[in-house]
Amino acid sequence: MESLKKAILEKGKVLPGNVLKVGAFLNNQLDVKILGEMADEIFAYFKDKNVTKIATIEASGIALAILVAERFGVNAVFAKKSKTANVDGDFYMSECFSYTHKVNNNIIIGKEYLSSSDRVLVVDDFLAHGQAVYALKNIVEQAGATLVGVTIAIEKGFQGAGDKMRSEGIDLYSLAIIDSMDDCKVVFR
Ligand code: 5GP
Repeated sequence: MESLKKAILEKGKVLPGNVLKVGAFLNNQLDVKILGEMADEIFAYFKDKNVTKIATIEASGIALAILVAERFGVNAVFAKKSKTANVDGDFYMSECFSYTHKVNNNIIIGKEYLSSSDRVLVVDDFLAHGQAVYALKNIVEQAGATLVGVTIAIEKGFQGAGDKMRSEGIDLYSLAIIDSMDDCKVVFR
């Protein structure tokens, strides 16, 4: 998606540890225009797939997930990274190593918010090693629901998870794929 690539080149910053900082439009300040265009692109790609639910992980996937859910006319559900006091009842849980926080989280979604009849589109801001997406996929499977596909704003293609998912038959649609960030220079696929 050209406007996203332009924003990455103009406003993104490569940090140590293969981390791309995009706080100016995706991770801290939210650029509603770009996010809206992203949601439109994602809807155009998956619109015939009978999506009934959007799933993401708190916190940085939520903004895009809400806009995507609005386009499909369905609800978005987000996995929590810890069991807080406002979580009661039964929940699905899956282990997930956080790329940016470098800790293991047991992510959870209340069982009442996902059912076996759901057709789920997983949404996230970044794809690095795939831990977040595979943990959500695992929860979708626990619910007996159908994973329709996965959509990512920025896939770091050089970290391999995206190609692995495609080879496994997952319908993965990334809006920008970065092939390298060597010497702080972003190169797109
Ligand atoms: P994965 O689980 O695929 O290894 O990492 C994806 C998650 O880590 C995303 O939900 C995102 O929040 C975070 N993440 C991974 N790489 C980056 C990055 O380069 N920049 C930012 N801002 N977040 C990242």
